Amino acid sequence: ASPVDDNIMLEVRVMPYGENEYLLIARDVTNLLKLERMRKDFVANVSHELRTPLTVIQGYLELMDDVDALPPEMAKKAQLTMAEQANRMRSLIEQLLSISRLESGLDNIQRVPVDVGYLLTLVQDEANAVNENFHHTLSFDIQSDARVMGVEAELRSAITNLVINAIKYTPEGGKIEVCWKNVRNGVAFSVKDNGEGIAPQHLRRLTERFYRIDKARSRETGGSGLGLSIVKHVLARHQSRLSIRSRVGQGSTFSFVIPKTLVAAPLNDKSA
Ligand code: ADP
Repeated sequence: ASPVDDNIMLEVRVMPYGENEYLLIARDVTNLLKLERMRKDFVANVSHELRTPLTVIQGYLELMDDVDALPPEMAKKAQLTMAEQANRMRSLIEQLLSISRLESGLDNIQRVPVDVGYLLTLVQDEANAVNENFHHTLSFDIQSDARVMGVEAELRSAITNLVINAIKYTPEGGKIEVCWKNVRNGVAFSVKDNGEGIAPQHLRRLTERFYRIDKARSRETGGSGLGLSIVKHVLARHQSRLSIRSRVGQGSTFSFVIPKTLVAAPLNDKSA
C-alpha cells in the first residue's frame, strides 16, 4: 500500500468475492466530509448569530411586562435596544440572502456600465456619517472616470464594506485613504488605514463566512463576519480578487483591480 496522508478520509467496504476472496472498496470522502462540516458550522453560526439579538429582545420584553412600573428612561432604553437588535437581525438576514444569491447566480449577471467614481461619492457620504463617531481624517482620491461593466448594487456594497471596515477597525483619530485610479491592467480601488492591522495567521481566513479576529469587538460595532465574504463573491463576479496587505499595529490596505476586459469608456468620452 502507498503511504496515505493523515488528513485523507477513506470509506472502506469489504465485499465477498468468490470463495475465500474479498473485494476491498475504498472511496476518498475527504472533500465530502469537509463540505458536510462546513455546512454544519454554517448552520450553527447562523443560529447563534440570530439567537443572540433575539435573547436580548426577549429579555427586554420581559422587563416591559409591567411597563407602568418602569422608569420612563428605562422604557426608552428598552425600546431603543430592541429596535437596534431587530435591525441587526434584519441586516444579518439580508447579508445571508445576498450571499446565497451571489453563490447561486454565477453566470446570469446583468452587466451595465457602472460609474464607480460616482458610486464612490455616495459611499463617501455614508462614510462621513459613520465617521462622526470615529473622527478619522478621510480622503477620497477619485482619479479615474472609467466605467466598469458590472452590477451597480454589488459593487457599491463591496466598496462600502471595505471603507466602513477601515473606519471601524481603526482607533479614533486615524487616517483613511480611498483611491480609484487607472492602472496598467485595468482600474484599481484601494482603501488604506493606519488601524490595528491584521496578523498573518488571520489574513488567509478573513474572507471566510463568519470569520472574525475578535468576535466580541466585531459584534460591538454591529459586525457579523459576513462582509468580506460578500466582497469576495462580488469581486469574483467582476473577474477580480481582493488583495490584503497588513501589518499589526501599522494598518491595512484592501485593494482590487477591475481588469481591462470589464472597463468601459467614461460617459462623456470625447475620444470614443
Ligand atoms: P465584520 O462584520 O466582523 O466587520 P467582515 O467580514 O467585514 O466582518 O470582516 C471580518 C474581520 O476582518 C473583522 O471582524 C475584523 O476582525 C477583520 N477586519 C476587516 N477589515 C479590517 C481592517 N481594515 N483592519 C483590521 N481588521 C479588519
